[in-house]
Amino acid sequence: MAASDLLRPALLAAARSPRMERTVTKIPVTRNLVDRFVAGESEDQAVTAATGILGSGRFITIDHLGEDTTDLAQANGTVAHYLTLLSSLAQLAPAAANTGEPRSIEVSLKLSALGQFLPRDGHKVALENAHKICTAAEEAGAWVTVDAEDHTTTDSTLSIVRELRQDFPSLGTVLQAYLERTEADCRDLSGPGSRIRLCKGAYKEPASVAHQGKVAVDDAYLRCLQILMSGQGYPMVASHDPAMIDAALQYAQANGRGADDYELQMLYGIRDAEQLRLIDEQQHLRVYLPYGEQWYGYFMRRLAERPANLVFFLRSLTST
Ligand code: FAD
Repeated sequence: MAASDLLRPALLAAARSPRMERTVTKIPVTRNLVDRFVAGESEDQAVTAATGILGSGRFITIDHLGEDTTDLAQANGTVAHYLTLLSSLAQLAPAAANTGEPRSIEVSLKLSALGQFLPRDGHKVALENAHKICTAAEEAGAWVTVDAEDHTTTDSTLSIVRELRQDFPSLGTVLQAYLERTEADCRDLSGPGSRIRLCKGAYKEPASVAHQGKVAVDDAYLRCLQILMSGQGYPMVASHDPAMIDAALQYAQANGRGADDYELQMLYGIRDAEQLRLIDEQQHLRVYLPYGEQWYGYFMRRLAERPANLVFFLRSLTST
């Protein structure tokens, strides 16, 4: 077994540990590495980074970092951040809004940051909070996509997405190829007007619900991609993996999809040169741009994905 396969579960467990969060966020050099993946803490910093990315011909989706909130005030605070963000984004994007072409500006939401885990009425609070953000996004000419979190949230998340889509038909959602259920979800959700972001999946999931190991996950990703590309929706191919990207381009061509009928997506700070190369090839490429103070969980999942990032982090620790 590769060292990365051993480290990944430990890092993903640490991503959910408040004790590890207190330790890691206190290490001064952590900040340098975090800056590679996170575009600052304020709306102004996020909008500045987004403006540069849009200027290069790429699209953006902006995520206000935060997750697993069990505090109503914090959930409401997250909504306020999105509303501030969207009022700035409105000035960047109006022309793209109603042309039928892909919208260059999007925000991504985590329902667990909007109150999904509140003890009594989490589902209702998250739904209402997401509804407020979708309303503001519509006015700003931006799309909204709901992120996928761990498998215990999938049913609740997809049910909230179904409810929201009655008022906001362009609402996108994320499916994780590593979950056994996802091929069926892709079939259910690949109808006209749907926007599905397909990713491999970033959480620590048990073998009872998820494919384990890179080969099985990659195979599942390709099966899901086939379903979405031959469906009637708008597939959003979220991967840095050259094999997945090549397959996406082939499947798109085989299904007669033009450049406006699907898009590629990568995370901020990852494979920047490849992102620009794909733009030169006339592909639509959207950058997932996270910002905010609650970067710990997001950062640890990036370390878990790529041992080179962890080595870089450990080296900086030992050289201080
Ligand atoms: P991996 O299997 O991690 O990498 C495969 C190959 O890609 C590597 O071998 C290498 O060739 C190349 N590669 C990867 N990283 C780098 C790098 N830093 N530099 C150079 N080459 C690299 N997960 C969720 O669970 N929920 C979500 O809502 C979610 N949203 C996402 C949105 C976007 C836009 C993206 C891109 C990812 C999202 N993810 C989400 C994360 C996703 O699930 C994966 O954990 C993550 O993308 C890593 O998988 P991968 O497909 O890039 O391939």
